[in-house]
Amino acid sequence: MSIKTNLQAFKNLLPEHVKLVVVSKTQSPEAIMQAYNAGQRIFGESRAQEITPKYDMLPKDIEWHMIGHLQTNKVKYIASFIALIHSVDSLKLLKEINKHAVKNNRIIPCLLQIHIATESSKFGLTFEESCQLLDSDSYKQMENIVIHGLMGMASFTDNTQQVHKEFSELKNYFGLIKQRYFAQQSYFKELSMGMSDDYRIGIEHGSTMVRVGSAIFGTR
Ligand SMILES: *Cc1c(COP(=O)(O)O)cnc(C)c1O
Repeated sequence: MSIKTNLQAFKNLLPEHVKLVVVSKTQSPEAIMQAYNAGQRIFGESRAQEITPKYDMLPKDIEWHMIGHLQTNKVKYIASFIALIHSVDSLKLLKEINKHAVKNNRIIPCLLQIHIATESSKFGLTFEESCQLLDSDSYKQMENIVIHGLMGMASFTDNTQQVHKEFSELKNYFGLIKQRYFAQQSYFKELSMGMSDDYRIGIEHGSTMVRVGSAIFGTR
């Protein structure tokens, strides 16, 4: 199957309110252009060093999303163009994003990444840590970032009950944080959850954005 066919078939499965982030990490510019020519404009990458050359080379109406762990010393490479950072997992990182957003005279949209998986290797804040971040004075002083919602990755497991449990937990945190910190802010509305193997479960639990790579490009 071609990338175009996969993409169209996948889009037909998605409810209209769910945004598709096509994950293009490790994919060549040619492969990305096949998805682009089939109409896709939102692409997700997990390494800053990989996004920057792709941004330079590919059409400028692509919306690039950072979905992987971001080191503070890499923020400067993506700050001028990144459309959404899904993976904010510390106050220190958010400070750095704000600093570079100021330098570039723009507002950078962000999601807080919440740790919901059982594996300790997955990045993210606990619910309590996200509240601490949102309560901090330094967060309140940041004028060039906007938190649009939350992101989470479920455990890598065949146990779908476990995945249901984790996504339902994330949805619950989303509601609590919305109520406590963003009740009047209509921009706080995104819940980035679901990948090729678990996007259906993500959508069942209220995902507004799925990050899908291998279902479209084939296995990496
Ligand atoms: C690689 C990656 C994805 C996409 O995974 P697939 O299984 O290829 O759909 C989604 N989210 C993050 C954070 C990733 O690193």
